[in-house]
Amino acid sequence: MSRVALVTGGTRGIGAAISIALKNAGYKVAANFAGNEEKAKAFEDETGIPVFKWDVSNYQACVDGIAAVEAALGPVEVLVNNAGITRDAMFHKMTPEQWGEVINTNLTGLFNMTHPVWTGMRDRSFGRVINISSINGQKGQMGQANYSAAKAGDLGFTKALAQEGAAKGITVNAICPGYIGTEMVRAIPEKVLNERIIPQIPVGRLGEPEEIARCVVFLASDDAGFITGSTISANGGQFFV
Ligand code: NDP
Repeated sequence: MSRVALVTGGTRGIGAAISIALKNAGYKVAANFAGNEEKAKAFEDETGIPVFKWDVSNYQACVDGIAAVEAALGPVEVLVNNAGITRDAMFHKMTPEQWGEVINTNLTGLFNMTHPVWTGMRDRSFGRVINISSINGQKGQMGQANYSAAKAGDLGFTKALAQEGAAKGITVNAICPGYIGTEMVRAIPEKVLNERIIPQIPVGRLGEPEEIARCVVFLASDDAGFITGSTISANGGQFFV
């Protein structure tokens, strides 16, 4: 019987690659998105993966959205918390709105999504929660005090929850991608990418979304049952913890 996997922000970028890789690995996959209907529809048409719209920063929307996914596919056994945003600014110019949007989506979103599926995972004695954090949560990044704080918070959440889930067959792990060639990164001016960012990456290139997706497929598998509370750094050698 194939397991049910839910990927937040699963219609674009890294999330789309994760949704597709899980589907190819035999999971029944649902992909959540926030509002880009055009991209979501094109993704659904192309992949056959059903898409579900809600905002992960809204707890009740997550409860309702997860209920809709479970009615369509069955209980969520693998949750990939991938949805994320940036609202970059140097701290002296950062607004409370920029701070709040990033914390609410990138950190509180993990509570909002994981809490409604947690009891079911405990009851079934099986679960996989995989959180997509960031290299910038590990090392900090100027211009991203909000994002770095949220992504570092994701790692604390991962380690705490791993301890709670362990005896119930639930693993909770994080992946910290370095720079991956998605729209989020391609939005950086090409000159900055080529002259400042890529030279900092020892392998000499951006990562591919599929390279993160393969880590997710491994962590979701039965083979990874002894791995919990861990962080996979997938950053081309840019930073070692
Ligand atoms: P993209 O901007 O390409 O895609 C983001 C996805 O998240 C979209 O599907 C978007 O939906 C969805 N999303 C955003 N906000 C919400 C929300 N409030 N509720 C539900 N869905 C939401 O991002 P990436 O693929 O680049 O990044 C994916 C994850 O990886 C993020 O958590 C990011 O922080 C992290 N990451 C990315 C790196 C990179 O180099 N790209 C590096 C390190 C970490 P919609 O299409 O509707 O807008």
